[in-house]
Amino acid sequence: MNVDQAEVKKFEDLAARWWDPDSEFAPLHAINPLRANWIDSHAQVAGKTLLDVGCGGGILSEAMAQRGAMVTGLDMGEKPLAVARLHALESQLEIDYIQQPVETLAEEQPESFDVVTCMEMLEHVPDPASVISACAKLCKPGGYLFFSTINRNPKSYAFAILGAEYVLKLLPRGTHDWQKFIKPAELAAAVRQADLLVGETLGMTYNPITKQYKLVNHDVDVNYLMAARKPG
Ligand code: SAH
Repeated sequence: MNVDQAEVKKFEDLAARWWDPDSEFAPLHAINPLRANWIDSHAQVAGKTLLDVGCGGGILSEAMAQRGAMVTGLDMGEKPLAVARLHALESQLEIDYIQQPVETLAEEQPESFDVVTCMEMLEHVPDPASVISACAKLCKPGGYLFFSTINRNPKSYAFAILGAEYVLKLLPRGTHDWQKFIKPAELAAAVRQADLLVGETLGMTYNPITKQYKLVNHDVDVNYLMAARKPG
């Protein structure tokens, strides 16, 4: 199975604080409006079926449901999903949260989602290409996919590991393993290999002075997002 239990456990242990905007999950809360707007501007999610792969406690899933998407969230962590289900109740949103490897869902329900999102998750799995190909299979022809992850180069080591985990302490030490980071060219190759078309690729930068994140089209050195489409 394409699941690293040690990676999943990292998120199980933090799950209770998922919705605390001052917790380890502060960066996900901070980037959420940016990525939700970006996804919506490409895919117009209202009324569409959307699968959020590696949804965790549901920060993006809820933002998509608030915009009118019919959302299914998938994760392999039990506690993040329990938190996600409770929070959806509080938010009065109907979201279907499931604990299942994305590869088996792809076997069971091919071509059933208009939109597939997979954010900040690929760098935690043993075989990211397998997740991408499962996402491609789950997407309807003509549908939209959105991936995000972290680039692999000396700067991303300095910013995403040393900076974020050791200096600024935005994330707990050991959250990320630099070797699992994915270069944009590698992500694009896996996207094409899954018979998808590569779309807009944007960087996401963080200014530690203003504590602001921004989407930019000139700097994919550290965090970045990639849109894709399934032909059809
Ligand atoms: N996508 C969410 C959460 C990112 S944290 C967001 O951006 O807000 C990474 C998530 O990936 C965690 O919830 C973790 O449990 C999940 N994960 C790790 N390996 C996984 C796998 N093989 N299958 C499904 N989810 C996985």
